[in-house]
Amino acid sequence: MVNDVPRLPALWDPALREFVDEHEAMIHELANGFDAPIHLLFPQRFARNVAAFQRVLDERQVAGRVYYAKKANKARCFVRAAAESGIGVDVASVGEFADALAAGVCGEDIGVSGPAKANDLLRLAVLHDALIAIDSLDELGRLIAIAQQCECIARVLLRMEPAAQTGSRFGLSVAALDSALSMCASNRSSVVFEGFSFHLSGYSAVARCNQAGIAVRACASARAFDLSPYTINIGGGFAMSYAGEDDWRAFQAAQKPGDYHATKMFDGFYPYHSACSGAQMLDAILTGVPDGESKPLADLLREHGLQIMLEPGRALLDQAGFTVFAVQGVKDRGDYGIATVNGTSFSVSEQWFASEFLPDPELLSAARDLQQPPRASRPYRACVGGASCLDSDMVTWRKVAFAQRPEPGDLLLYANTAGYQMDSNESPFHELPLPPKLVMTLDGARPRWRVDRLSPFSGA
Ligand SMILES: *Cc1c(COP(=O)(O)O)cnc(C)c1O
Repeated sequence: MVNDVPRLPALWDPALREFVDEHEAMIHELANGFDAPIHLLFPQRFARNVAAFQRVLDERQVAGRVYYAKKANKARCFVRAAAESGIGVDVASVGEFADALAAGVCGEDIGVSGPAKANDLLRLAVLHDALIAIDSLDELGRLIAIAQQCECIARVLLRMEPAAQTGSRFGLSVAALDSALSMCASNRSSVVFEGFSFHLSGYSAVARCNQAGIAVRACASARAFDLSPYTINIGGGFAMSYAGEDDWRAFQAAQKPGDYHATKMFDGFYPYHSACSGAQMLDAILTGVPDGESKPLADLLREHGLQIMLEPGRALLDQAGFTVFAVQGVKDRGDYGIATVNGTSFSVSEQWFASEFLPDPELLSAARDLQQPPRASRPYRACVGGASCLDSDMVTWRKVAFAQRPEPGDLLLYANTAGYQMDSNESPFHELPLPPKLVMTLDGARPRWRVDRLSPFSGA
């Protein structure tokens, strides 16, 4: 039966693939040494992803600024890589703001988004000259008062309600934008209006291009208030591919409820393959012609003297990390088994959005004593459970086809988890320690590692 089961091989960056293939012993050593699931991070790959976005801006001759959306991963090393690459960071809390400063990002390069931001955050942002995306009129009122108290001038963008996503709770309506513009115009000593922003859900380049067209026209209208906007922030949501096109298509066609433990059903899955992802998607947005316009967005931006700002989170973390769990035990259940690992599904966030992180985990069998007979390698299907007492704590509901039965001490590698999967939902539930993050450098003869930073909750 195992020959017939749906598979979804994970895409691996060649350098990471080589690292896994050539340094299995080191991966076992680290997993043992830290006695927990571990997240391995590759900030060099992050820097390459940044460069790919910047290349598109250069090629299309568009003035632009990239901001890394920090919420996609809590690690310090990526913010530091952002600082080193000279890009900005998008934050939404005092903690994230402080973290960005601590990693060497200057206030001017910090963008602040999020709904109804706390006064503390607004004050911090004003004092550090950060760029604040305003989400409501009352927030703008509070910001103006704070800027007056601080005797500073607040830099603002006005966040637009997405024209095509009426269900969004974010942004200002057309009428509210008008009021916000007059507030900016009459409070020039405390706010400077720099432009418009939006962030759309979904992964459509066309929707982003169209909304950017609306923002370009809004910039032209704002000039009637004698304001001089020069930035359009198109937010994030750049798609990422975790699997090859054919594999993803075949998987979707083959998978059925019986392939999942407890015949679990899901609301839907992330599009694990996108024909147009990452920086390529930025190119599609810039070369697209927005609705109601006759020229590509790139031309419109240039003609109106506007710069574009983008806030990728997930796409900058493409191939910048993977997660390693150790198998603690395996229980046979008829035609499949349940492998329980030494961590929880909180380390694979997709599992907490009525969905599943689908790319196949990879089994690294424990280093064997040469005296022992080699393990029989008969194909075996297993789902993967977490070490908690929650029935729903499944790291993988799907009965994954492994080449052999997992055994205690084996490792399971989950590829490409840096974007959102790793840590957005982690908690020290059951007093389990938070998995440490190890920063890997692959440029020497032997890979080097260091701890990203010790979390106050790591139990260490
Ligand atoms: C979450 C978020 C992003 C990043 O989204 P990705 O899908 O990770 O690219 C960017 N901007 C804002 C305002 C966000 O809330």
